[in-house]
Amino acid sequence: MTTMPPTGDGTEPAPADPVVAEPPSENPNATIDTANQRLDDGLNRCPRCGATDIQLRPSAGMLVCLFCRHEWAEARLDESVPATDVATLTGTVIGTGAADIAADVDVVITLKCGGCGAEVVVNTNEQMGARCHWCRHVLTINEQIPNGAVPDAVLPFTVTHDQAVATINRFAGKRRRFAHRAFLRDFKPENIVGVYLPYLVVDANASVDVGGVGEVQTRRYTEGSGDDKETYYDADIYAVERHIDFTADNLTIEASAERANQDTSVNTNNIINTILPFDTENAVQWNASYLTGFTSEKRDQNVVHVTPELEHQLLSIARAQVVPSVEAYDRGVRWEREGLQVHGARWLAMYLPVWLYSYYHEERGKGMVHYIAVNGRTGEVMGSVPVATQRLVLTALAVGTVVEALVIALLGLS
Ligand SMILES: [Zn+2]
Ligand SMILES: [Zn+2]
Repeated sequence: MTTMPPTGDGTEPAPADPVVAEPPSENPNATIDTANQRLDDGLNRCPRCGATDIQLRPSAGMLVCLFCRHEWAEARLDESVPATDVATLTGTVIGTGAADIAADVDVVITLKCGGCGAEVVVNTNEQMGARCHWCRHVLTINEQIPNGAVPDAVLPFTVTHDQAVATINRFAGKRRRFAHRAFLRDFKPENIVGVYLPYLVVDANASVDVGGVGEVQTRRYTEGSGDDKETYYDADIYAVERHIDFTADNLTIEASAERANQDTSVNTNNIINTILPFDTENAVQWNASYLTGFTSEKRDQNVVHVTPELEHQLLSIARAQVVPSVEAYDRGVRWEREGLQVHGARWLAMYLPVWLYSYYHEERGKGMVHYIAVNGRTGEVMGSVPVATQRLVLTALAVGTVVEALVIALLGLS
């Protein structure tokens, strides 16, 4: 057995020392101010008539004043925030909305109504605005003090409630045959809720080194005969090293610990990940009016908490990029070392739109939350429907019988 590389000058580079991932930065090296300067906490007025009854019109992706019907949109984030060249990005850069969540930030915020002076309470776990119960003005939380409460950007719903209901109807309809009767009985797709879920969206510039052993087959032969026949092969074995420098744009990472909980024995959260991706490049500058009529979920994960997930995603990208360069090793490469260096990362906090139909199903004393989720931009749908196991077994038996009958028919023909 020889050890010569298949191509090149005869030497692969010497194995590098394993590179250890950099510890996450406790303090960002720079921040990008993404605050919407036009807005303050409190009354968010129509630029034409000054009314505060403003809502998103999903079919147009625009804000609409319910009083004068004026329509407008906030600037796209890539227009309002200075562009970052990902290729030369160094250190950790974060948007003001992606700042660490201050421990003392109150979930319940009291706003003083600019219309009548009353104090109105907003529970920011679910809403980013409320109507003054005295003068009917709508009060919204817009101020982006860097405490992690208000994200850098929002990606508005473009899939309407009606479209989402139709999508969920189709999804459940296809699974009707196996669905649990209790689910079918209670199924009310019009009860879907539009929810803005918190994500951290990151651009990164990284290097990955991988090292291992690759084999190229030189001969293949069999020895012996009959039951003792064995196949052997000869291969050249090479030390293989690869180094990749690359950038990744718009990686989308869950920023709610509860959503990121992938314990499938109690929930079906992993569904949300299957309706990715979102066109986060079309996210707009924060304006709480985009959330009127929708619920929202507060971010509870900081950049430092989700940095391991970023590293995981970057390594996956790198592994995929290496594959074409090692095709010459026809017996494969066994990777033994990998190291990642994140040179720079830019983090922005965003609210992304999801239509959710949730259903709590209990069977034999065990409860489970099922979801059907529709991507609020693309209409992509995924979900879980509680299954009636008896109906599944019966169907399987019926299919089995048909197969058997076919086999008998075929045998009869021969
Ligand atoms: Zn107006
Ligand atoms: Zn008021």
